[in-house]
Amino acid sequence: MNRVFTLQTSLLLVLPLAAGLATGATKKKDGDAPGPDTNAQQFVSGPLPAVSTGSTKKTTNLAFVSTVAEVTPTQPRDMKLLVVAATGAEPGFAALKFFLDHIGIPYQAVVRATEPLPALTTAAGKGNYQGVILATGNLGLCDPTCRSALTAAEWLALDTYTRDYGVRTVAYYAWPEARYGMAPISGFSTDAAPAPMTFTSASANVFRTMNRSNKLDLRYAYYYSAQPVAATGEVTSPILTVNNQTVGVVHTKADGRESMAFTFDNNPYTVHSMALSFDILNWVTKGIFLGAKKSYFSPQNDDHFLPNDMFVFGVAACTPSGFTNEPTYDPADACPSDRMDPTDMKTIVAWQNNWNKNAQFSKFKITMAFNGAGASSIYGGVEAALDALSFETIKYRNEFFWVNHTYDHENLDCFNPSPNSGICTPITYNQAVDEIRLNVNVARRMGLPLDTTAMVTPGISGLNRISFLLAASAQGLRYLAGDLSRPEGQPGSPNTGIRSAIQPNILIVPRRATNIFYNAKSGKQGAIGSEPDEYNYFYGPGGLFRLGNGAPFFSANQTWAQIVDSESNALLNYMLRGELYPVMFHQSNFIRFDKSDMLFTDVVDAAFKKFSDITTLPLVSQSHSDTGRAMERRMAYNQANVNATLYPGSRIEIRATGAATAPVSGICKTGCESYGGLKVSSIPVTANGVVTVALP
Ligand SMILES: [Zn+2]
Repeated sequence: MNRVFTLQTSLLLVLPLAAGLATGATKKKDGDAPGPDTNAQQFVSGPLPAVSTGSTKKTTNLAFVSTVAEVTPTQPRDMKLLVVAATGAEPGFAALKFFLDHIGIPYQAVVRATEPLPALTTAAGKGNYQGVILATGNLGLCDPTCRSALTAAEWLALDTYTRDYGVRTVAYYAWPEARYGMAPISGFSTDAAPAPMTFTSASANVFRTMNRSNKLDLRYAYYYSAQPVAATGEVTSPILTVNNQTVGVVHTKADGRESMAFTFDNNPYTVHSMALSFDILNWVTKGIFLGAKKSYFSPQNDDHFLPNDMFVFGVAACTPSGFTNEPTYDPADACPSDRMDPTDMKTIVAWQNNWNKNAQFSKFKITMAFNGAGASSIYGGVEAALDALSFETIKYRNEFFWVNHTYDHENLDCFNPSPNSGICTPITYNQAVDEIRLNVNVARRMGLPLDTTAMVTPGISGLNRISFLLAASAQGLRYLAGDLSRPEGQPGSPNTGIRSAIQPNILIVPRRATNIFYNAKSGKQGAIGSEPDEYNYFYGPGGLFRLGNGAPFFSANQTWAQIVDSESNALLNYMLRGELYPVMFHQSNFIRFDKSDMLFTDVVDAAFKKFSDITTLPLVSQSHSDTGRAMERRMAYNQANVNATLYPGSRIEIRATGAATAPVSGICKTGCESYGGLKVSSIPVTANGVVTVALP
């Protein structure tokens, strides 16, 4: 049925209601479905040029620059990483930049084929880098003669620097060679089937945030199996193996140089790369670095209190091409709609509490983006006074973050149109004030702990609408939501927001949409609001949406179990790489379709299981404004060119060209917090100031 709001004569309704409430059930999506995640498969992974840096004619003199015992290096060095690629096309090079940009570790990326190797020290003897990462172990390239992109003199310079400054090297994808304490056995593709990697006991000091008791699948990456070798005075410790053959080592030279090398490929979207990246970066910096990582998951349940129209396969009025794109489209009574009931509310609270009992998920909390028009008339909505969902909501109000989603979910760019007219009129300033304030009033009457400076606009509308933005600013809103599935919704760099050009005191917080649709409530095929039916309608063999080459995403219709697997993988990826972005769901996804099964809980249960199988890092949920503030801190940090110099065993000097807060991992000073066994400090820096932090 199409829910028709009945206006209640309530003294609590101090402002006139929009006439649009009569057709209030037409709730359109609040973000564009991103499509199934095929990113990891888009990179081509293959063998490396078999260029040995230690035994070829050109590099004969480079195997060991010295056997002189290392002196304890105390020279100052900048807290910045040197990342070197041969051609710049290496998938691992893209991965390294992607992960470093998420965490916020300063680095200099050098493509040796087109750029010189930079100076490694200053004339005064300060080191320019605290660690070196080579995208491939030999920096091999073939044009067509295969050789290393580094000259013999450059290898010598790197070896000399890493020895004299005690700086570590990571070879991110290495052909097994003596430089890294390995000899090759064979090479394999993992495109067809994953290769499960085992963490050795020696990896415990390296992979501190990994759940090392489980295997980690290597997938969509070529790899070499290797055997460890060590010349006189060297130590080679395998840290990762596949079928008892080495694929990762820590190798120490007789002169003290330490390297970590992996014989498998990486790209920004492969799970093994995302999972291992943080511990690798922590190792190469020796545990003290600018930047910080947390694993976040901040799901937002849009449209709380309102019903959503349901997808019905084969009914034109209820299929998305009919009602997602045209803002005046109104299916009237042609589509069924549904709304969470009190038992759904109770069920989701019990489910969340159950996860919270697990220490790794104790900070997990859902955000409710609510529309007060759908609440009981007692509290300022237009539902029946005795609306049971409203009472259940009040009972559990402190279990969730609450964010304004407007009073009645009208599109702000097409406000209260005549149904199916095709004619849009944008919201006025006064109407926008009403949409914000009426909803705040409902929250106050119900005692909802409202995130007062944040709002998610219906359909992510109004973001370029001056009337709305002026009203939003005047009402104290500072954080809105954008859509990462749209080009204009993508921030300039990871974990930052988009500053509104029209109203600069407002930050657009990019948000992930999902393929768990706003008009789906069931995992059963053929059901009203069937997620599999809609998923296959979009992505199945005859689906509306296609891959770039015109092929369907899936050659067979997907079951709910298969959809759970692929959609939970997407959520897993966001958590593993430390994304701040909230993730969009809708209240229809919180309706029970089978005992206690909900679309939301099925997918998130699977994602949490995968996450805890891989890592021991705690998962953190944030309110919308807390996410916005974290992005603002990150933007200030990025813009202030924060840089630091480490004086080993003595102090860190932090500088910036603008005011910012510098996250420093590995030390416990100002703003110290503990996360996943790691200490992280937040140290304020003033413009052009220097902050000195003593090391213990
Ligand atoms: Zn919505």
